[in-house]
Amino acid sequence: MKKQLLGLLLFTGLLSAQTDSRLYAIIDGVSAERIAKDIKTLADFGTRNTFSDTVSNTRGIGAARRFIKAEFDKTSKSCNNCLEVFYQKDLVTPKDGDRIPKEAYVVNVVAIQRGTKYPNRYIIMSGDIDSRNSDTMDYKNDSPGANDNASGMAGTMEAARVLSKYSFENSIVYLGLSGEEQGLFGGKGVAEYAKANNWEIIGVLNNDMIGNIEGDDGVIDNRTFRIFSEPTPVTETEKERNQRRFYGGEVDGISRQLARYIYKTVTTYMPEMNPMMVYRLDRFGRGGHHRPFNDLGYAGVRIMEAHENYNRQHQNNRVENGIKYGDVIEGVNFDYAKKLTAVNAIVLASMGWSPMPPKNVAIGGAVAPSTILKWEISDDNDIAGYKIYWRLTTAAHWENSRFVGNVNTFTLSGIVIDNYNFGVATVYKNGHESVVVFPSSVIRSTAK
Ligand SMILES: [Zn+2]
Repeated sequence: MKKQLLGLLLFTGLLSAQTDSRLYAIIDGVSAERIAKDIKTLADFGTRNTFSDTVSNTRGIGAARRFIKAEFDKTSKSCNNCLEVFYQKDLVTPKDGDRIPKEAYVVNVVAIQRGTKYPNRYIIMSGDIDSRNSDTMDYKNDSPGANDNASGMAGTMEAARVLSKYSFENSIVYLGLSGEEQGLFGGKGVAEYAKANNWEIIGVLNNDMIGNIEGDDGVIDNRTFRIFSEPTPVTETEKERNQRRFYGGEVDGISRQLARYIYKTVTTYMPEMNPMMVYRLDRFGRGGHHRPFNDLGYAGVRIMEAHENYNRQHQNNRVENGIKYGDVIEGVNFDYAKKLTAVNAIVLASMGWSPMPPKNVAIGGAVAPSTILKWEISDDNDIAGYKIYWRLTTAAHWENSRFVGNVNTFTLSGIVIDNYNFGVATVYKNGHESVVVFPSSVIRSTAK
């Protein structure tokens, strides 16, 4: 009897070790009301076109960015100044692109919650400050941009409020970007700033339109959302490209692993949601602010609603043939924006509490009935060990895993290398894991 009870206790102990109750508290902490209030405030600035008024306190992008900065400052005040809040800006002129009507500063708002252990490792959540109407060059007339992209901006501000009550090993950045509609200038500015300051970016979660549940096709869905990720980094070398032909990795780039991490975290902690992995950089021929980070070799994805409503995007507010056009607040579902904000918040928290991914992961096992993996062991005392993941080559998500302890190599007996994709993650004693790392080199077989 006693033995049974002990067994049961051990069993439940193991089960609870798999999830972190703080993440449920974070989900519950996200407020639809605060998100609604911020979206309304942003939409009420009339236009947030990147080239709109910067002097007024009631209209234009200047008022919008000052409001966003003030909100981050307020959040920081209530957490004993846990955020470093500042503007990052770059000048653009009409020479920089055909959607630039005049010279102006593209001003981004940056809020950093500094990591206690790895202050130079960053996880970024971004939304956009700017908006547009039918004519991108029209910086005078209304473009409320309630869903595109006050929703992503409000979600980012709300995530900061919720997560500022915790402290994390890695740094978290809450980012408001400008110049998106004019050519992704704000993201480019911060990505270059990060590179110049040697930021080690774990991943970028770019939120662009997270509040619409009513598709142009009439579908109403408040549970599905999309995670866009490019297959492999655009910065890879010719040699790396050639190696893929023989060793695989066509769908295993760093942004894709980040997307899988989001998928896994959401299906674990918010099983009511339907994350939809989309195996492409962005929507067909369209862009978003994760791309400038991808361009510099950083992992980054776009998180957004599953069903877009094109009458409510990039349209002047009007009624035509009985159809209402315009990106107004009535088109935003605050509960859905809250859910997608919670999706971001738990991923930021889990990554914030996670170890460094393993370095120099190598794989071998050709013409053998087993697969061997090797990696560099870390001296971080909080590491419990390493976990090997594998899946069929046609599978979208990691299907199998095995925790192998605090070792730097392991052989999976009976698992034939030809039939699966493999990866390795680092596991902290707190249960949180790094992103899975796909092997970057091959262990030459000495046998046979
Ligand atoms: Zn847009």
